[in-house]
Amino acid sequence: MAGILFIISAPSGSGKSTLVTQLRTLVEGLDFSVSYTTRAPRGSEEDGREYHFTTRERFEAMIAAEEFLEWAEVFGNYYGTALSALEHARRLGKDLLLDIDVQGAMQVMQKLPAAVSIFILPPSPKILEMRLRNRSEAEKMTSEAVIEKRLAEAEHELKQIRSYKYALVNDVLDQAVAEMRAIVLCERGLGDGIQAIASSCRTDAVSPRLREALDTFHIHAR
Ligand code: ADP
Ligand code: 5GP
Repeated sequence: MAGILFIISAPSGSGKSTLVTQLRTLVEGLDFSVSYTTRAPRGSEEDGREYHFTTRERFEAMIAAEEFLEWAEVFGNYYGTALSALEHARRLGKDLLLDIDVQGAMQVMQKLPAAVSIFILPPSPKILEMRLRNRSEAEKMTSEAVIEKRLAEAEHELKQIRSYKYALVNDVLDQAVAEMRAIVLCERGLGDGIQAIASSCRTDAVSPRLREALDTFHIHAR
């Protein structure tokens, strides 16, 4: 594809959807890949908007027909990015944003090494737990067991953070949005005056802010 492919991963509840929604109001020319999933819609989610909701049978048929750029099983459900999402963005002349889990991100990094990967992490496990609980209260859906599972999974996912080019801590929302914007614009070569913001998120030179957040998860960055 001609545009840039941005891969965004984050432990569930880190605030990735909130960040991406804000980013898309600030930065033009970003297409968002709507994934396929076998999980049930949550809250006000609509088919074709947040996800293409589908059955396991249909999803497995798509795997067999090699219709996915990547797919993975997350929390017991299938999730996948259709190859057609790349084609769609290319036709629109836009960059493409993939919101996918760590397993899917590794597949895309291998297949398309030019993709720009960004990891979003919460400031601490405590805050992540609070956000997961707030969200589940708002949606009146998620059980205690699901929250526990997501917290454990977060620690597992964070171990892969150094495979990503950038990482940012979603503490103060406006700051995290500004960092995402800086990364996107700098990768487009349009980041005059904001390179320092994007550079501060590089994982090859862990910032004190990132180190502090990783420490709370007992992950010790070099
Ligand atoms: P994700 O998409 O990563 O699962 P969400 O965007 O649904 O996460 O956010 C989880 C919860 O945290 C939501 O209730 C959201 O409003 C809240 N949230 C997101 N970012 C922040 C932030 N920077 N500060 C405080 N709360 C936040
Ligand atoms: P949720 O069910 O909370 O929307 O998403 C659960 C997890 O699945 C998140 O980590 C999200 O990034 C991931 N996910 C969403 N779509 C895809 C996809 O197409 N591929 C992969 N590999 N993961 C996805």
